[in-house]
Amino acid sequence: LKASLKTFCQRNGLLTLSVISVVAGCLLGFMMRNMQLSEQAKVYFSFPGELLMRMLKMLILPLITSSLMSGLSAMDSRACGRMGVITITYYLWTTFIAVIVGIILVLIIHPGAGAVKEGDRANNGPVMTSADALLDLIRNMFPSNLIEATFQQYRTQLIPSIKPLSSSRIAGLAPSFVYIVPDEKNPKLGTAVYLELTPAPEVIYRSTPGNSREMNVLGIVLFSATIGLLLGKMGERGMPMVNVCQCINECVMKIISAAVWYFPFGIVFLVAGKILEMQDPTMIGKKLGLYAVTVVSGLLIHGLILLPTFYFLITKKNPIPYVRGLLQALVIALATSSSSATLPITMKCLLENNRVDRRIARFVLPVGATINMDGTALYEAVAAIFIAQVNQYDLDFGQIITISITATAASIGAAGIPQAGLVTMVIVLTSVGLPADDITLIVAVDWALDRFRTMINVLGDALAAGIIAHICRKDFMPSTEKGSRLNLHF
Ligand code: ASP
Repeated sequence: LKASLKTFCQRNGLLTLSVISVVAGCLLGFMMRNMQLSEQAKVYFSFPGELLMRMLKMLILPLITSSLMSGLSAMDSRACGRMGVITITYYLWTTFIAVIVGIILVLIIHPGAGAVKEGDRANNGPVMTSADALLDLIRNMFPSNLIEATFQQYRTQLIPSIKPLSSSRIAGLAPSFVYIVPDEKNPKLGTAVYLELTPAPEVIYRSTPGNSREMNVLGIVLFSATIGLLLGKMGERGMPMVNVCQCINECVMKIISAAVWYFPFGIVFLVAGKILEMQDPTMIGKKLGLYAVTVVSGLLIHGLILLPTFYFLITKKNPIPYVRGLLQALVIALATSSSSATLPITMKCLLENNRVDRRIARFVLPVGATINMDGTALYEAVAAIFIAQVNQYDLDFGQIITISITATAASIGAAGIPQAGLVTMVIVLTSVGLPADDITLIVAVDWALDRFRTMINVLGDALAAGIIAHICRKDFMPSTEKGSRLNLHF
């Protein structure tokens, strides 16, 4: 046993180190919590982890643009269209299944049972709707400025604006005035009373596209994919550009291969830094604990049973070696809580360990990292129903269907960044009339759940790439590839 353990560690050195780092980070974080570090000390302490995030984020843009432009240029546009349709259909289907799993579990476990929430539920304020989220998604597909898209995406903000009063409503009302109540003892003094007779102008909320300082991955994916297809159609004339992209892509993959050796060190501080910021764990009540167990059970069922079963049924291959090849990416997803930041490592695992056709991986993964979030969809459905249970709000069947649809939409709209799902959850809550403010009920455990759902999001994308590569294998025979000199191995 000792010998086989040693061989395993030697073969999977980096992976073993990464797993050890996660555990070490947790231990270090809990130890440091007792030390009452100053805010500045916390910043220094988290610095190696911050560096890891920066490195990963730095690689996203060159990786997506170069891999899509060079990858799709070698593809036939009909085959590419077919692959696109299959990819989107598969993504929607698995996300919807994830939502159903979450709904069944939360209805059976009933984590919010018996709770009566204190406080006023009436004052919910303005909220974003599903239509706003859909418009944002479409806006992000067409960035008005490509350079800006590398560091900003659109996210609707609700900003107050004053509704002008119509003159007929003002007419007949005296303007506001100051009335002086004389002081009986001293006639020279008096108290000023301000009387406001004019009706207060009504505040209405306007949905305005605001900028979120995160890269608009979707816009960049669509633009690069289009350019890639067009370059392929240009034949010889497009070759210089394709070669440039190919070279950049090779360089990026080499940088990733080198950077991964820094990751175990960075992970320790990334995880420990997060634990330092965490709320006191004893504050998490029984109901919230049960809610977290429901989400994690759903994620495990979806990620460890359903998705691998789909892989097996469609490809007739054993999913275990495939998932084993992805472990490094899953550890990074756990550490970073971001599917976009994990993208470079997911790509590396798929190409090097699982040998998925790189033309397919280059398309399926970046699209998946932006729109395919099974874990997020499952969590959003569970969280919405949990909040309804806490409020003792009985949801009828129609409302549960609404939750399943809006949770799917909200997960598509969520960016692949930490806790993006928490923000888009407002859409799910408001669709069935639940108080959006109640998101605060689940915030305490969200940072931890975010890590697990990000792992499932990444796993979902990577298994999808394997499945789509299998379905589309006839369209992508090596012999039929145009410009086979493009297909260099990393
Ligand atoms: N952190 C998740 C991801 O990057 C998104 C979310 O659910 O918040 O995939």
